[in-house]
Amino acid sequence: MSTVVRFAPSPTGYIHLGNARPALMNWMFALKTGGQFILRFDDTDLERSKKEYADAIEKDLAWLGIKPHRLERQSERKAAHDAARDKLIADGRLYPCYETADELDRRRKRARAMGRPPIYDRAALKLTDEEKAALEAEGRKPHWRFKLEGKEVHFDDVVRGDQVVNTDTMSDPVLIRADGSYLYTLPSVVDDIDMGVTHVIRGEDHVTNTGAQIELFEALGATPPTFGHHNLLTDATGEGFSKRKGSLSITNLREEGYEALAVALIAILTGTSQPVAPHESLDELAQSFDISMVSRSAARFDPAELDGFNARMVHGLSYDDVKDRLAELGVDDAEQLWNAVHENLQKVHDIRDWQKLVSGPVETVVADEDKDFIATAAERLPQEPWDENTWSEWTNDLKAETGRKGKQLFMPLRLALTGQSHGPELKTLLPLLGRTACLDRLS
Ligand code: GLU
Repeated sequence: MSTVVRFAPSPTGYIHLGNARPALMNWMFALKTGGQFILRFDDTDLERSKKEYADAIEKDLAWLGIKPHRLERQSERKAAHDAARDKLIADGRLYPCYETADELDRRRKRARAMGRPPIYDRAALKLTDEEKAALEAEGRKPHWRFKLEGKEVHFDDVVRGDQVVNTDTMSDPVLIRADGSYLYTLPSVVDDIDMGVTHVIRGEDHVTNTGAQIELFEALGATPPTFGHHNLLTDATGEGFSKRKGSLSITNLREEGYEALAVALIAILTGTSQPVAPHESLDELAQSFDISMVSRSAARFDPAELDGFNARMVHGLSYDDVKDRLAELGVDDAEQLWNAVHENLQKVHDIRDWQKLVSGPVETVVADEDKDFIATAAERLPQEPWDENTWSEWTNDLKAETGRKGKQLFMPLRLALTGQSHGPELKTLLPLLGRTACLDRLS
């Protein structure tokens, strides 16, 4: 059987690292099984859904390395949703309710006070046609609930194993708002059926929904797909990443120059039995990755890890890997520079700082009390050829000659050569600068 999965974001904001996880889990699954990946915008909330966000999500996914085979928008599928609605009404599984939010709230409070679970009491099912007509004459518009069977719904979750959701303990879910618009549940199930989705892989915050959705699949005459609920990515304190966590939005991470693959690997591997370690590509990871490797406990992630991991990935990149990106950064013909410095970079674009230092001009800084020392340093600059050892040969010689050591020895040289009190390792920088440029900066 060929597999079909979907990632179904609501385009009501930018996606962040936590939302990238289900997208990537589905992508891994599609790669591994040779299946299809659908990007489906759950955009039935017309007021909050924005094209700008949908476009950004597409761009973010492409950057992460996800290439959807199909793009769908729920807003274009209203006729199919309406047909399902009509079938459910005809079958007596979808019924109109007239309670206001305040009334429902009061009832829930009362139930709690009496020690009963705050479940919708299905009062609307008892309304006669006359009563309904009277409510509508008052100007009330119904919202519509799906009548659950109230049973133990069993499913075999590809991540969590055997699951049971007892729909008897749940309120009948509202599928249609009083303004006629659909909440997420019905369009999602209808589209999963029509699009031939075989595996619904999503966050574990949906486990309970799955119970009701399986009943809905059945009510619509369909066999439910296989489900898999992965743990959620949280920050170090266990808090989820809300859409407001702008700093961890994928757009922001891209703009800050993180490696797409580093971000993707963190989003996938955190909270699994595989270590967060570099991989060649998502394709390569997919071969060894199995969705059942996802752990049952929270996937805790400390944003600081991303910096370290990104640097690790950058250190493993060859010049060929980055040549085109360097050209985009305006750093052309930089093989020697890349080879010399890439193990010192946190992000690829940091190479611009090195290039600036190497090509100059730099405003060198020599304090009065260091003038003689710098003159001696210029005199005693070794002859070329230079390599990584030149720096220690030179500074050992200067130490013996002048008696200076530690910061007193190194800092004036750094300031004279780079104009800055910190920066790249001088033993790497020196051979890139060459003798002529060094002499120039020291004089
Ligand atoms: N639009 C839903 C969400 O973002 C999709 C959930 C699902 O995958 O079914 O939570």
